[in-house]
Amino acid sequence: MSHKVIAFHYKLTDVSGATLDQSEANEPLAFMTGVGQIIPGLESVLVSMLKGDKRRVEVEAKDAYGERDLGRILNVKRNQLPEGDVKVGDMFHGPNGEVVTVTAVSIDSVTLDANHPLAGQKLIFDVEIDTVREATKEEVAHGHAHGADGQHQH
Ligand code: ZN
Repeated sequence: MSHKVIAFHYKLTDVSGATLDQSEANEPLAFMTGVGQIIPGLESVLVSMLKGDKRRVEVEAKDAYGERDLGRILNVKRNQLPEGDVKVGDMFHGPNGEVVTVTAVSIDSVTLDANHPLAGQKLIFDVEIDTVREATKEEVAHGHAHGADGQHQH
């Protein structure tokens, strides 16, 4: 299977128009196709675009970070968490490396949500293709892109 590396600039907004994320001016985001490096609803559009193309891509939650799963929301006793102040919006890594967000705090319990922070949201990307090239052997072996030019060290 042949893989391409696509580098693109993007601005990500939610349905209200609020900016959630964007690429740096001189640093497009590079990804390798066919390995699930970016959300499927965006990859499926980017692979059909050419260098210099600009487009708005709307991705439904199910093709982005998935629907919110109520089974991933958990109430725990305060004393089950490390000492210290816990407040709504705090994020930390759970036991399986997932990002957990504190969504409610009461006197003796804390609500934790292990859904991706963007789960359940339709996402709107304004994208512009910077470069498209074949993936290098090294990138294919690693399963990810090494930057727009393939030279990124890590
Ligand atoms: Zn690598």
